[in-house]
Amino acid sequence: MALGLINFRLFDGENLLDGFHRAVLIDGDRIAGVFDSRDALAPNVKRVDLQGATLMPGLIDAHFHCNSPSLDVGAIDRLHPSHLAQHAREHLESMLARGFTTVRDAGGADYGLVKAIDEGLIKGPRLFIAGRAISQTGGHGDLRPAHEFEICGCGYKGALAQVVDGANAMRRAVRDELRKGAHQIKLFISGGVLSPTDPIWMDQFTDHEVKVAVEEAKRWRTYVMAHSHTAAASARCAINGVRSIEHGTLIDQKTAQIIADHKAYVVPTISVMASISDEVASLPQTALDKLAEIKDQAGEALEHCHKAGVKLGLGTDLFGQLHGRELDELRERAKIDGSLNALRSATSVNAEIMDKQGELGVIKQGALADVIAIRGNPVENIALFEDPNSSIGLIMRGGQTVRDTFSSGAD
Ligand SMILES: [Zn+2]
Repeated sequence: MALGLINFRLFDGENLLDGFHRAVLIDGDRIAGVFDSRDALAPNVKRVDLQGATLMPGLIDAHFHCNSPSLDVGAIDRLHPSHLAQHAREHLESMLARGFTTVRDAGGADYGLVKAIDEGLIKGPRLFIAGRAISQTGGHGDLRPAHEFEICGCGYKGALAQVVDGANAMRRAVRDELRKGAHQIKLFISGGVLSPTDPIWMDQFTDHEVKVAVEEAKRWRTYVMAHSHTAAASARCAINGVRSIEHGTLIDQKTAQIIADHKAYVVPTISVMASISDEVASLPQTALDKLAEIKDQAGEALEHCHKAGVKLGLGTDLFGQLHGRELDELRERAKIDGSLNALRSATSVNAEIMDKQGELGVIKQGALADVIAIRGNPVENIALFEDPNSSIGLIMRGGQTVRDTFSSGAD
């Protein structure tokens, strides 16, 4: 049954539009029309009065991990897959309840979760997966402790990532993830915080290995997203054809220009660095030392990107007890970018990164009907997202109502 939304201020994914006179018609899983006047709705269409709230596209998290029940990432490998899947279900369902109607997994999720969501077994957001992320031996995805010896010579394959070395092994791993249903490919190009043995400054994979992954992804009409903290690794990502540079924490002015010239995107994950600092008791000293190297520099990197005209997505990257703080990323980004830009990143820009422009992240005729309505004006007050259970009164995903406190008369 078609549904007409009325009496709202509109953020369409790009701009905040004046007035409360518009109407949005939802038919099936799509937005069938965005009208200047509610009189454009046929008289028999059921109306939902949004009481002056802000209607906007559902949020997109471009750096999410379904399989993230613990900050001790190595411990995730020791869970039974069925147990891990239950953690993933809970995490996905809570994301949808926070207003995220799409998440892009940055390593770990398999196609079974996509199917379970499609079949309604999990009431979660749309999910785009990378399968197991791809790391070199001793890279950020190699979660074996230094004292673990390889007896069989068969490398490492864990819940989040797998190890491959050399161009042929890379080609095979990319093809295999795509065969198993990956929507995009994830590589690790620099060191990272939570992995046990690699320094942050370390360059990972050769240019040739990265190029092979990009080439194979392109042949599948998709793209590579890559973990990269340093300026050097981020430049290598852009030059070698990576579309989406994850974190980009140490990007300098020169690198930002290289990224802009190659039309790559950066998905910063700022709030995780502050929130992880609150959890020092759960982190090993190696992770704390690595965190100290990058923690305070993300804001500066973002400003370099801004000035160079790099398009910025928005991602959260939260594990374990940090779950629930995802919307902090909007607040932290708003401090640097302004709230309108933070909201654009979380909607239309994230959709563009995932090659879903016009389908997701916008309120336009023909787009998928993934929408939320938040009480108040989030462009003036981004803090409205701090209490999503009460501020977000409407959540729809593919035209299906997940939450509607407007029709039920609650406020
Ligand atoms: Zn991540």
